[in-house]
Amino acid sequence: MFNIILFGPPGSGKGTQSEKLIAKYGLIHLSTGDLLRKEMRENTPLGLEAKSFIEKGQLVPDEVVIGMISTAVDANPQTNGFLFDGFPRTVAQAEALDKLLSLKKTSINSVLFLKVNEEELIKRLVNRAKTSGRLDDADPEIQKNRQQVYKNETLPVAAYYQKFDKVVDIVGEGSIDEIFDALCKEINARNTATSVNSL
Ligand code: AMP
Repeated sequence: MFNIILFGPPGSGKGTQSEKLIAKYGLIHLSTGDLLRKEMRENTPLGLEAKSFIEKGQLVPDEVVIGMISTAVDANPQTNGFLFDGFPRTVAQAEALDKLLSLKKTSINSVLFLKVNEEELIKRLVNRAKTSGRLDDADPEIQKNRQQVYKNETLPVAAYYQKFDKVVDIVGEGSIDEIFDALCKEINARNTATSVNSL
């Protein structure tokens, strides 16, 4: 199995690039944001619980998202690998993910960190708010909170994986295709000798 974490702040392009990467490498896309929004649309108990956090720009509790990811990983034993998007967002989630994958005799191959300057991020989020229909995009206060939560709780996840030499910085500015090419180059370079060849 070949597992990637696509990492970066809200607005860094994780969703857009995930779609292209799963198509090219045949990976299962696990976006906790998408999974939570689906639960919210379906008004499930989990969705109702998540809504109260998402609408404040806060993180949904670790045990909720870890449970969701664990179920999704269990449900796809035959996959080439997983692309994690928007997860892990705390060090506790990263540790839980590592444990979960090691039980399946696999691990994270690389953490691809999309680097985008703050001015560009704000510009993208203002644009996304016009079409996404997401309250947490449209409200500037919620937006500010999400960026703060990213800095305080999610950035330490990069430091956690740096200890294992798994983080690769990717320039997240430029055209969608340029960024995609940079991601593919890294994936291919870091994994030529391993499973990516057999995908
Ligand atoms: P996203 O679509 O990844 O930007 O996520 C939207 C919102 O869902 C976030 O602001 C959080 O409230 C919640 N969320 C998504 N993924 C996670 C996660 N891994 N841990 C906690 N909360 C999450």
